[in-house]
Amino acid sequence: IYKPNLINLKKAKKNIENNNVIGVPTETVYGLAGNAYSNKSVTKIFKLKKRPTFNPLIIHFKNLRDLNNDAILNKTFKRLYKVLCPGPITFILKKKSKSKISEIAIARKKTIAVRIPKHKVARNLLKILKVPLAAPSANISSKLSPTCANDVVDEFGSKIKFILDGSQCQIGLESTIIDLTGKPTLLRPGSITAEKIQKILKKKIAINK
Ligand code: AMP
Ligand code: MG
Repeated sequence: IYKPNLINLKKAKKNIENNNVIGVPTETVYGLAGNAYSNKSVTKIFKLKKRPTFNPLIIHFKNLRDLNNDAILNKTFKRLYKVLCPGPITFILKKKSKSKISEIAIARKKTIAVRIPKHKVARNLLKILKVPLAAPSANISSKLSPTCANDVVDEFGSKIKFILDGSQCQIGLESTIIDLTGKPTLLRPGSITAEKIQKILKKKIAINK
């Protein structure tokens, strides 16, 4: 477990560049993060988590400009982005054909789940990286999600060599997921509620559970 100072953030960057998988805090839960452009890196994530290969990962970006390289940003997205980002919400968007995101990371879909996290440590890491991070929760599939660095150690032991410490996660609940590829549809509830989204969009959204 490493303090998130500049030296250690640079070590984290090196790990990501070498396609290693590391533990990273976000405001929701701790993530198991790897280079989203690298098949090698994201394959490690699926293996570590024992996650079925058909279940796509959420891709984390530092800002809108980077996001624009890989996803098509529609009007509804831009409206929600203005109010809710950075924050604990994930958007399903259409993937750009020129996107460099690993096909394995997104389970060969034409859509991609994207998030711009708010946690200082996640942001500071993304800021010094040239690539987005594929980062699902740092737990074995179907187990409880980790909300502190020690939870990640308990789950993976020596299989994860590097974890950035971001203290206790503020929210401790997975991000809200909303599909914006068609009529806005809530796919997973979270701390940002359907009501809040409806207020911003000034219309009803569908709820799919
Ligand atoms: P996790 O990373 O473990 O928090 O889980 C990510 C969730 O996002 C999973 O339930 C996925 O099914 C969902 N997800 C990721 N990508 C997509 C996508 N392109 N379309 C719909 N759901 C997605
Ligand atoms: Mg999860």
